[in-house]
Amino acid sequence: MPLSDLVNTFGQDLLRRHGRRVHKVAIHAGFSCPNRDGAKGRGGCSFCNNVSFSPSAKALPDVATQIESGRRVIRKRTGAERYLAYFQAYTNTYGDVAHLAALYRAALAEPDVVGLSVGTRPDCVPEAVLDLLCALRDQGHEVWLELGLQSTFDATLHRVNRGHGFADYRHAVRAARGRGLPVCTHLIVGLPGEGRDAALTSLERVLALGTDGLKLHPLHVVRHTLLAKEWRAGGYRPLAMEDYVSIACDLIERTPAEVSFHRVTGTASRDILLAPDWCAKKWAVLNGIEAELRRRGTAQGGRAGRQIAA
Ligand code: SF4
Repeated sequence: MPLSDLVNTFGQDLLRRHGRRVHKVAIHAGFSCPNRDGAKGRGGCSFCNNVSFSPSAKALPDVATQIESGRRVIRKRTGAERYLAYFQAYTNTYGDVAHLAALYRAALAEPDVVGLSVGTRPDCVPEAVLDLLCALRDQGHEVWLELGLQSTFDATLHRVNRGHGFADYRHAVRAARGRGLPVCTHLIVGLPGEGRDAALTSLERVLALGTDGLKLHPLHVVRHTLLAKEWRAGGYRPLAMEDYVSIACDLIERTPAEVSFHRVTGTASRDILLAPDWCAKKWAVLNGIEAELRRRGTAQGGRAGRQIAA
């Protein structure tokens, strides 16, 4: 039984709505982050890898070239025929609106690109950006706003130097969803000082405000981060895989079936991953989540054991 029988995965959601496989193509458009350049904060989030941070935009292939090469790989691997241009790296609304419009439109002009997914911080979504995204949506494109919230606890956000609070997310999600723009909320499980209860409370708060998608991620320690120093000094202990799987299943069970999961785990490449080592094994975690839901006899949306797929 595939995971998509138990969880409303974004891939299945796209397949149902578009009638064919749609896959995200990740783009690094050369954005920076206001949590590093002083606009919102300095130093960045404690878990953010700085090495590849903000390469010169000139060194990056342009959006069309990135989509073309990503598309080739994804088509071969998954058989996808349509794509969402995923502005993923760093803060993808951090720029003047004319610049953003040029980048987003360049992506949408590519063959077989049916829409956009734009990843950003909750304190970096001004009205003008929402106007732009809504205008693109009104032209018939699928447009998602991905908000990196990570935790609803201000003390945790402060501890990991996020440079924003839960109130920023509350404002951004209301503004976006108030305009009918779908939001995918990113949550990290296993942040310093947080365990199962905090993860469940964050989910509860996010669902109470309303969200259209969720992305779950275990916190991993990667090289060249403040978190790596904390971990080396014994100040941070990563979750065991069994604990992550168990908490992820708790979160999935409590999420209404209409909310799509864009991701239920995340990986880091072995060359930068320090801990936990299971974060390099995506399939072990996905299989673990599926097995645990089956063992519990549950699925997304409750304990009735209802299956997602028709
Ligand atoms: S994780 Fe995101 S918000 Fe935090 S420093 Fe890195 S790019 Fe900026």
